[in-house]
Amino acid sequence: MPISSKHPETLAVHAGFRAAPGTNSVAVPIHQTTSYQFDSTEHAANLFALKELGNIYSRIMNPTADAFEQRVAAMEGGAAALALASGQAASTYCVLNLCEAGDNFVTSTDLYGGTWNLFANTMRQMGIEARFVDPTDPEAFRRAVDDRTRLFYAETLPNPKLNVFPIAEVAAIGRELGIPLVVDNTSAPVICKPLDLGAAVVMYSATKYMGGHGTSIGGVVVDGGNFDWEAWGDRFPTLNTPDQSYHGAVWTEAVKPLGPIAFILRMRVILLRDMGAAISPFNAFQIIQGVETLPLRMRQHCENAILVARFLRDHPKVTRAIHPSLQDGEMRRRADSVFKSGYGALVGFELEGGAEAGRRFIEALELFYHVANIGDARSLAIHPATTTHSQLAPEDQLASGVSPGYVRLSIGIEHPDDIIADLSQALEKV
Ligand code: PLP
Repeated sequence: MPISSKHPETLAVHAGFRAAPGTNSVAVPIHQTTSYQFDSTEHAANLFALKELGNIYSRIMNPTADAFEQRVAAMEGGAAALALASGQAASTYCVLNLCEAGDNFVTSTDLYGGTWNLFANTMRQMGIEARFVDPTDPEAFRRAVDDRTRLFYAETLPNPKLNVFPIAEVAAIGRELGIPLVVDNTSAPVICKPLDLGAAVVMYSATKYMGGHGTSIGGVVVDGGNFDWEAWGDRFPTLNTPDQSYHGAVWTEAVKPLGPIAFILRMRVILLRDMGAAISPFNAFQIIQGVETLPLRMRQHCENAILVARFLRDHPKVTRAIHPSLQDGEMRRRADSVFKSGYGALVGFELEGGAEAGRRFIEALELFYHVANIGDARSLAIHPATTTHSQLAPEDQLASGVSPGYVRLSIGIEHPDDIIADLSQALEKV
């Protein structure tokens, strides 16, 4: 049954799947199979020639992953999606789908550390240059472009600074120059829809809020179907010139009977085929269970985070509390223009007593888990100066927004009184 609703709460439980044919199973079955019987030799030949779309081998597609992909594509308002083994695989493939050796892309400096490393080091080893620009100035993206620039990349709500990215402004600059904006929306599912703001592609570490239960690593990329790759011919050789690895297919031509899915189809049939970062059917199933309650959970995460941010702002041992709900001026304007509801559930704060206070605070927490993760249903905390950022020189830590007394919280869906009570007792021990 097609779902006409646009409400995320409805799409999260209905889009992409309805009672499995053959069994009438209401839950999405876990299709734990590597391969699929062809109906005939003609059927097999058609599948390989992409004359018909269908299952061949689970590295490239799988019915459980397919239900997850369709659900996320519907929730984002995109044309199609591709599930992958991790968020890292998702960002890697977004770049490799458009860039070849000698090409470059322009990225915000405010990134998850793993993405930073991937872009600054591993991409460089592949001959692809990441040009880092300060997101406080959207025009910096325009200035960094040359004729080998293939994409813009940014995170909606990057920690630790929690300055919301100007998605609409940078997407508009990109559309003027023929450059698509790829947005990592890991920290802001449901509350932000980057495609509505002009982004061409949105991706997630599904490991975080989407899964929500902290059980499974996964990633997903959504093709907005809203970028005219063909109109910018030479800018996108991977999509507009014959692909030697698929008997000369030109992806923007090949997808014409299927819809505006050149980007995601190439990612599946070339990158996933060749590099193999496939999600397991079991992880796709687990993440689907999370997606079903994602809109509900995001509401609670965001409401709790506002209360926590206010509590920290007013606490005498806290020198600075960081959350978009507490910002003013241009940063608050950006947050209000990007978020449809809420301000996310990542909260940062600085303790007067520096690194030692940070360490004591973490040790004293009872409800919060001390982990290097975000987006779990449980509240999580970490002291970056002694963990995630400890390899950086002190001045580089500061430049990335991590002071010695900085603590990062990922606020969960527990009762807010219990979250605040735990923070309160831990602050007393600092
Ligand atoms: N993007 C962001 C914003 C993240 O926080 C993370 C992980 O922390 C990733 C990407 C990478 O995701 P994964 O750990 O699923 O590979």
